[in-house]
Amino acid sequence: MTQTPGLVQQDMAPGDRPTKPALWRGWRRRCPNCGEGHLLHSYLKVNDQCTVCGETFHHHRADDGPAYLTILVVGHLMAPLMHYTAFEWRPSPWVMASVFSTGCLAASLYLLPRLKGAVVAYQWARRMYGFETATPGSKATADAGTTE
Ligand SMILES: [Zn+2]
Repeated sequence: MTQTPGLVQQDMAPGDRPTKPALWRGWRRRCPNCGEGHLLHSYLKVNDQCTVCGETFHHHRADDGPAYLTILVVGHLMAPLMHYTAFEWRPSPWVMASVFSTGCLAASLYLLPRLKGAVVAYQWARRMYGFETATPGSKATADAGTTE
């Protein structure tokens, strides 16, 4: 079995962007193109451009998608846990409220930036919105007015 280097897979046309590696890199809050540069800063703000490869991200449109996915995942994890805990161990309401409020908050804070990275990476991989024509360094090149 031969392996191709980097993101290029054998069954892909030139210029295609593989979704799974991009999603993993986005989950890690890294650039979906190179996997090295930081995708986010200040917890949830998307960088305009990758500092390593120059891929532009300013035209992403994650909007409410990451928050929706976070609520979806946390809700589906916590609801059965609360049900099981309440009927199996019968803790006091204050213990239930304290433990599950803290758990919901911690899980949401953990998931939100990772899901935002994954949503932006998915948009990048599928060439959605402004990602269809973006090339590495295009914003910097356009802003500077010079080519290096
Ligand atoms: Zn990059």
